[in-house]
Amino acid sequence: MKTRGYAVLQAKEPLVPFEFERRELSAKDVGFDIEFAGICHSDIHQAREEWGPALFPMVPGHEIVGTVTEIGAAVKDFQIGDRIGVGVFIDSCRNCENCKKGLQQYCLEGMTGTYNGYERNSQNIAFGGYSNKFVINEDYAVKVPANLDPAGVAPLLCAGITLYSPIKHWKVGPGSKVAVMGLGGLGHMGVKFAAALGAEVTVLSHSPNKASDAKLMGASNFVVTKESDWSKSYKKYFDLILNTVSADLDLEPYLNTLRTDGTLVVIGLPGKPYSVNAGTLLNGRRSISGSMIGGIPELQEMLDFCGSNNILSDVEIISADYINQAYDRTVASDVKYRFVIDAKTF
Ligand code: NAP
Ligand code: ZN
Ligand code: ZN
Repeated sequence: MKTRGYAVLQAKEPLVPFEFERRELSAKDVGFDIEFAGICHSDIHQAREEWGPALFPMVPGHEIVGTVTEIGAAVKDFQIGDRIGVGVFIDSCRNCENCKKGLQQYCLEGMTGTYNGYERNSQNIAFGGYSNKFVINEDYAVKVPANLDPAGVAPLLCAGITLYSPIKHWKVGPGSKVAVMGLGGLGHMGVKFAAALGAEVTVLSHSPNKASDAKLMGASNFVVTKESDWSKSYKKYFDLILNTVSADLDLEPYLNTLRTDGTLVVIGLPGKPYSVNAGTLLNGRRSISGSMIGGIPELQEMLDFCGSNNILSDVEIISADYINQAYDRTVASDVKYRFVIDAKTF
C-alpha cells in the first residue's frame, strides 16, 4: 500500500518527506486513513538517538487516529467508517502472563513498537504515524468515541494512557494529593485525569507562564520549581508524584515532598540515571516506582472515560512541513500542550 510520510533518514538529522509501502491487509488487519498524529517527546528522543542506537529510516509517531477504509476477511470489531486509534505498540507475543492479563506493554518477550523496530516475526521495518495511511491487526487497535474531536484524541494514545494508567494503579480519587512534574504533553493529561477523579492537583513546573493554563486544566496549585526553596512549603505533603519531566533532574527536593508511604512514579525517560539518597526513602517509607504506557484494555477504558467526561488533549495543529520546528519547540517546553500533525498535509 503506497504511503506518504516524513522520516528521519539518519540519527539527529531533520525529518524529510518519505514514500514507502505498507503491507497489504491480511485477514485480521484493518486499514485506515490517518487523520492526526501527535508528536511525543519519545519520538524526539529516538530520532536523536538519546536512548541508544535506533533503526533508520525512522517514521516516528505513536499517537495515531484515523478512519477505517478497509477490513480483512476475519475482522470482527471494526467496520469501514469507524474512527480508530493506535498507540505505542502494534503487537506482542499474546501468550505470556502479562499479555494474557492485557498488560501487553510489559510483554515478557517485549512489545512490538509502532516504529524503531521490525514488525513481529518479520524483516519489515515498522513505520509509525507521521504518514497518511496505516495497517494494524485489529487486536492492537482501539475504538475512538464518536463525540470526541480527533485532533485532541491523538495524544491520548500515548500521553493520555501513560498518565491514566498510574493514576488508576495508585487509586487516585477524592482526598488524594497528587503532584504532576512538568506541564507538557504527558503532564497536562495527568492534571486533567487526576482532577476529573476528584484529587487535589499541584503542578510542579519550571515554566512560570503556564500557571493560568494549569488552573484551567483543573490544578489547585502551581509551583515554580526554579525558586530554590519551593519544596519547603510542601514538605511531606503529596501522596503521589507523577514525574513526566523529559530532562535530567535532581529528585531529592521532590522526594522530600512525599508523605509517609508516598510514591514518586518515574514516567519521563531522560536517558540518564537518577541519583537518590537512601535516607530520603527510609524516612517515611517512601517509594520510587515506574510506569510505562498501558495495555489495550486500559487504553480502551481511558478513551471511553474521555468520551464520557469530554476530556481531550490541548493541541496545536501543524502541517507536516512544520515537524522540525515543532521538535525544537517541544524540547524548549514551548507547546500548548501537544503538537498534532494534520495527516492531509503528508
Ligand atoms: P514534553 O511535552 O516535552 O513535556 C516535558 C515537560 O518536562 C516540559 O513541558 C517541561 O514542563 C518539563 N521540562 C522539560 N525540560 C525541563 C528541564 N530542563 N527542567 C525541568 N523541567 C523540564 O514531553 P512529553 O511528550 O510529555 O514526554 C515527557 C517524557 O516522558 C519524555 O522523556 C518521554 O520520552 C517520556 N515518555 C514516557 C512514557 C512512558 O510510558 N513512561 C510514555 C511517553 C513518553 P514545564 O515547562 O512545566 O516545566
Ligand atoms: Zn509517546
Ligand atoms: Zn507477551
